[in-house]
Amino acid sequence: MRLTKEIYLVGSGEFGLSHDFDCNIYVIDAGDGLIMVDSGAGLGVEEVMDNLSRDGLNKSVRWLLLTHAHADHAGGAHAFRQRFRCTVVAGAPEAGVIERGEEKELGLDVAKRSGFYSPDYVFNPCKVDLPVNHGNLLRLGNVSVKVLNVRGHSPGSMCYFCEIAGKKVLFTGDVVFAKGVIGLLNYEGSSLGEYRRCLPLLRGLGVETLLPGHGIFVLRGGQRHIDLACSRLKRLQIPPNFI
Ligand SMILES: [Zn+2]
Repeated sequence: MRLTKEIYLVGSGEFGLSHDFDCNIYVIDAGDGLIMVDSGAGLGVEEVMDNLSRDGLNKSVRWLLLTHAHADHAGGAHAFRQRFRCTVVAGAPEAGVIERGEEKELGLDVAKRSGFYSPDYVFNPCKVDLPVNHGNLLRLGNVSVKVLNVRGHSPGSMCYFCEIAGKKVLFTGDVVFAKGVIGLLNYEGSSLGEYRRCLPLLRGLGVETLLPGHGIFVLRGGQRHIDLACSRLKRLQIPPNFI
């Protein structure tokens, strides 16, 4: 599903584009190759491939940016890396979690108990070719990317702040969603205190297009949605949450 001239939504459980477990999977046409942002859970890979060809995207995925290690975002990385021989990029704090693929480290045990995955779901571990840290700058085709480590949802959650055809685009994973919603979990590694400390990193970026890992995306005025979450975190109440 084409969102802008360069950006497509090629997978999503919520939008019925791929397997129910899949987060939003975005693809950017970066000129001489495609950038995929998040990979879904790994059960909707064929549907994603169909969506790529239906959208006329017959270039190869050269880079796969993972926002964090959770299975609905990183579980498909192994399959796409095998298929495209793409460079897998993920935050250094969670690269080992993706490479080991252990259920407890991934939070999959609790997520299965909570009914988010079927008991027989298996996470395929994936090599991370390029672990990144806060402040790293990448040039992928004609897209520039600044890596922002915004902890709160998980310790290695990375937001990818991109300039795409002169527009400021932010991929947030599960850090912040449309309408000022945050992704706080009742699980080790997720922290309201880290949200208070780190979410202000996203202030003042002038984000036009906000592309979160779940729910609706925002094509114009994305910064307002982020600022709403920031201002809510300054009050006593816990801001609205995504689950
Ligand atoms: Zn997550």
